[in-house]
Amino acid sequence: MDSVGVAAAAPDAGPGPAWQSKCPWGAPSTTSISCSLADVMSEQLAKELQLEEENAAFPEVVAAAEGPFITGENTDTSSDLMLAQMLQMEFDREYDAQLRREEKKINGDSKVSISFENYRKVHPYDSDSSEDEVDWQDTRHDPYRADKPTTTPRRGFIGKGKDITTKHDEVVCGRKNTARMENFAPEFQVGDGIGMDLKLSNQVFNALKQHAYSEERRSARLHEKKEHSTAEKAVDPKTRLLLYKMVNSGMLETITGCISTGKESVVFHAYGGKSATEDKVIPPECAIKVFKTTLNEFKNRDKYIKDDYRFKDRFSKLNPRKIIRMWAEKEMHNLTRMQNAGIPCPQVVILKKHVLVMSFIGQDQVPAPKLKDVTLSNEDMKKAYYQILNMMQQLYRECNLVHADLSEYNMLWHDGKVWLIDVSQSVEPTHPHGLEFLFRDCRNVSQFFQKGGVAEALNERELFNAVSGLNITADNEVDFQAEIEALEKVNEDHVQNHGKKLSAFSSDGDPPIYDE
Ligand code: ADP
Ligand code: MN
Repeated sequence: MDSVGVAAAAPDAGPGPAWQSKCPWGAPSTTSISCSLADVMSEQLAKELQLEEENAAFPEVVAAAEGPFITGENTDTSSDLMLAQMLQMEFDREYDAQLRREEKKINGDSKVSISFENYRKVHPYDSDSSEDEVDWQDTRHDPYRADKPTTTPRRGFIGKGKDITTKHDEVVCGRKNTARMENFAPEFQVGDGIGMDLKLSNQVFNALKQHAYSEERRSARLHEKKEHSTAEKAVDPKTRLLLYKMVNSGMLETITGCISTGKESVVFHAYGGKSATEDKVIPPECAIKVFKTTLNEFKNRDKYIKDDYRFKDRFSKLNPRKIIRMWAEKEMHNLTRMQNAGIPCPQVVILKKHVLVMSFIGQDQVPAPKLKDVTLSNEDMKKAYYQILNMMQQLYRECNLVHADLSEYNMLWHDGKVWLIDVSQSVEPTHPHGLEFLFRDCRNVSQFFQKGGVAEALNERELFNAVSGLNITADNEVDFQAEIEALEKVNEDHVQNHGKKLSAFSSDGDPPIYDE
């Protein structure tokens, strides 16, 4: 039953005029109307003002109040509802503040911290409460809480004679609604409505119930989204901030999505924006390589960087986070060297911490296929082989680098040629394991093209000699490998004794020391 409807209808529907004229005691004096027009007006005015204020303070709540559960005919209750929802928000804030306090208490000085964030109630954007402002009381354990109201038995009424109360009784019903709020989701804080002897009308109760359900769904959605995004992009909040700043500065137009998720890096595609400086042109499409800051993946890469003299002094002093930045830095330096030598490779745009932005190899968000994924004609296959042979020589002689992870996985086919990528682990040939890395690269390339039907493809030993200019004559793999290691040892001993690299195996003098 709509009690509000009844209340509103009563004065109009009654047989007022007929009763007035027929009444033997004459017309009742107008004094029965206890408030003047001015009073009514001012009350309405006050209500209006209050509504206005509430509108300004809680635009969200008002929008909810206009939802399908509050219709025009019971707008009288909207103020109740508003109050209830304001109370709700207040409870939510208190609840969150308590969560924060508990979080702080548990975490203390501990290095590993836990977060209750997923249990928070208040939307981040409407949370204006700071920790110190909230004076939290544990309403759940209020010693002054009144007993729960007695429930109405099935027969629909309690009491006897004139003390009878039915389940339709407004007060009982209101109390019951308040009590029923306890059935909302357990995390949904309903406050101490019972203790306050709060009586909720059906409308308010239903609207609150709806609100509780939608809150539950909203919060589930929010948490799911958050977890999903972290799982998918594997980007921590700090990295996200870095990426956000790049977009915000206008350097990048938009970051469209993830191209690749590897063990050590995540690569995104982005549309380039405008550079702050005029001399620099941002490519129309960019690849953003984010080096993962999960450290254990990088542990086994120590051998690449630890012995690289360019990073030797720094390595021992650095914490693991900084070492990861060095991978990004290394990739940038190596790409720049390759770029200068004219080797097709991504062009460096910018390096920020562990995030490297470079030009995108591909078009319209579609990355160029890896050599292992593309089917080339015999002619193209042969062309690709000679190009790679050439690039390996350039890399070694002009860039003073060994790729160290060269295979069909790190070569892209784009614009009718091969592009080299993924050079963070590349080292100089004088690296203590540099020649072994080169030999491994040669084996990968040689096998790929021999299997791919390129009859001219050199075998791995021939390729090694062709690239390095060394003349290792061993005709089997084991001896060849032994000679390589012997050469590396000679160089290493020389470094130990003279603090300077030896270019015993280099045909064109000391490798240039790279300074940028
Ligand atoms: P990882 O160390 O994870 O192998 P890569 O540098 O090889 O890192 O990048 C992973 C993948 O991302 C590549 O195989 C390639 O498909 C794509 N990719 C990387 N850089 C670019 C780029 N500049 N343009 C287009 N695609 C790229
Ligand atoms: Mn790769």
